[in-house]
Amino acid sequence: MFTFRRFTLIFFIILLSLNLWNIILSKSSGGFIHDQTPLLYGLLFTLYFGISFAMAFLPCTNFHHPVICHGRGDEKSVSITFDDGPEPVKTQLILDILKKYEVKATFFCIGNKLAGQEPVLKQMHDEGHLIGNHSFSHSKWFDLFPAKIIRAELLKTDQIIKNITGKSPLFFRPPFGVVNPMVSNALKKTHWQAVCWNIRSLDTIQKNPQKIMQKILRKLSPGSIILLHDFSPFTLQHLDDLLMAITRKGYQIVPLDQLIKLPAYGE
Ligand SMILES: [Zn+2]
Repeated sequence: MFTFRRFTLIFFIILLSLNLWNIILSKSSGGFIHDQTPLLYGLLFTLYFGISFAMAFLPCTNFHHPVICHGRGDEKSVSITFDDGPEPVKTQLILDILKKYEVKATFFCIGNKLAGQEPVLKQMHDEGHLIGNHSFSHSKWFDLFPAKIIRAELLKTDQIIKNITGKSPLFFRPPFGVVNPMVSNALKKTHWQAVCWNIRSLDTIQKNPQKIMQKILRKLSPGSIILLHDFSPFTLQHLDDLLMAITRKGYQIVPLDQLIKLPAYGE
């Protein structure tokens, strides 16, 4: 697998080879440094940092860290996940719709949104939905925080969720779906399993609900993990239609732990 560790190893081998080559070349030409040498170093470093940076936005490649983006097995099952909640009023309305269709979903909650939302979180849990960790702050700088701070955020959110539901989440969804070396270091040797998605609905960006719906349905396949948001207008206005359309296509909507065959909660 093409991982950051292997990529870094290859980078250093090339760097070392280039250094050796330059030493041999400069010795044979009496200390002369070839014109293209700085350019080659520049190109090498740009490629290394450019590729490492770009891969942080492609978590499903498992480049920086193992991330689950798809269910296991061939059954026609999919999971629906809601990020960035709980939202006052809106999350409750989502729960009502899910209850109507007897669908169990997964909510990746932000720790600092939980104060005052304890009843809705408790209801979510009591009605059989899963709760995952989506950081405490969801800061736009989250991915640039040191691993220690990232880990502290996750622990804090876990504790709040545990205080309300009695259970500590094992699924973590990285804010913005970014997994870089800092996030990876924070997750190493911990209990959290990073879980992203393979259907990004773009429900917070795309204004045309028909396009969102078509995109989700077009990409639907056994094991799909669909990303929606508690606060998006699409979610509230079209969740009914979406649930019916998925069912019409012969898919069963299951909780994430059932789809990826891993436990959702730990000690
Ligand atoms: Zn988010």
